[in-house]
Amino acid sequence: LTTPVVVPAPPLIRFEGVTKRFGSVVAVDDLTLDIHAGEFFALLGPSGCGKTTLMRLLAGFETPTEGRILLDGAVINDVPAHRRPTNMMFQSYALFPHLSVWDNIAFGLRREGLGAAEIKRRVAEMLDLVQLTAQARRKPHQLSGGQRQRVALARALAKSPRILLLDEPLAALDKKLRGETQFELTSIQRRLGITFCVVTHDQDEAMVLADRIAVMRDGRIEQVAGPTEIYETPASRAVAGFIGEINLFDGSVTRLVDGFAEVAADGMVTPLRVPAEGCAPVGTRGAVAVRPEKVAMRRTNGHAPTADNVATGTVTDAAYMGEDTLYRVATDGGPMVKVKLANSRRQAALPIDIGERVVLTFHAADALFLDR
Ligand code: ATP
Repeated sequence: LTTPVVVPAPPLIRFEGVTKRFGSVVAVDDLTLDIHAGEFFALLGPSGCGKTTLMRLLAGFETPTEGRILLDGAVINDVPAHRRPTNMMFQSYALFPHLSVWDNIAFGLRREGLGAAEIKRRVAEMLDLVQLTAQARRKPHQLSGGQRQRVALARALAKSPRILLLDEPLAALDKKLRGETQFELTSIQRRLGITFCVVTHDQDEAMVLADRIAVMRDGRIEQVAGPTEIYETPASRAVAGFIGEINLFDGSVTRLVDGFAEVAADGMVTPLRVPAEGCAPVGTRGAVAVRPEKVAMRRTNGHAPTADNVATGTVTDAAYMGEDTLYRVATDGGPMVKVKLANSRRQAALPIDIGERVVLTFHAADALFLDR
């Protein structure tokens, strides 16, 4: 008996060496990326990195200058937008102001030529999904911002696309509503099992919404991974700096010892230590990266602490942020260090005041070396 050969199914979407130029501007630069069926995917990056262009290429509003876009393994470069199983929810929602909620949702279904009974059934289902059944007869101007967003979502989902593209879906909502809507979006995505691809420049939004995040810069992908991996092991300085707060200590790898790599950091007396595994070779210039919440801080008390990484300094700022307090510490002769302490866990000796002398420590395992 021979074991059957399992041919893995192609990804739902594959970008293969895709480049998009507008004149001399390279918006997307030789980019390769897979999006899998059923996942909530996020394209994240600063303004101008090419994320909107990538989404428009997927929707069929733009054609690649080079490379191929595949759906289920078949090239779709030349398939027009209306023949793709994609649908887009625009940042502006683009609702028809003169049509009721019901008619807004039914609009695309009518254009597809579905029968009246089927349209009625689908609209009712969508209204139920976004909890707007009671508002079906209202016009968009009679709705709150959050309700308008839900109409746009219902309209985009009514045609049962295989992949829903969402352009900054929460940008128009205020902060509190955004938080609630994020959870609604993820719960709807999970219930329907439709692939969602969101474009955002908001790191928190990407982290909350997505199963996987592609961090983009200059038309290229810096890293594709789940939120935890992106946060804990960023692949580059750009990713590290873009996602949350981080300390970056510039320096060079000087030697490997006892499973550690030692880095001579600019202005620091003692070398910093990071795990040797995965570290660049001796002589490489780069930066030691450590998150503010991984740095411990206490007042100096005359005892030298034993830790992989130690620095002394003076507190220059303290910003109370509810859940935690963010301190800035000027290390002796070295760079500023951000330290984040959870207020619920602040020890009896704290709070530490501005101007106090402190000792900072962090574990090598909580840091990593990022080369340039
Ligand atoms: P934002 O968050 O500001 O929308 P983005 O990351 O979505 O930015 P894109 O809109 O994809 O970035 O733009 C990438 C680059 O391509 C930018 O330099 C932009 O000016 C350029 N670009 C995008 N569309 C066009 C176009 N139709 N014609 C010319 N240049 C364009």
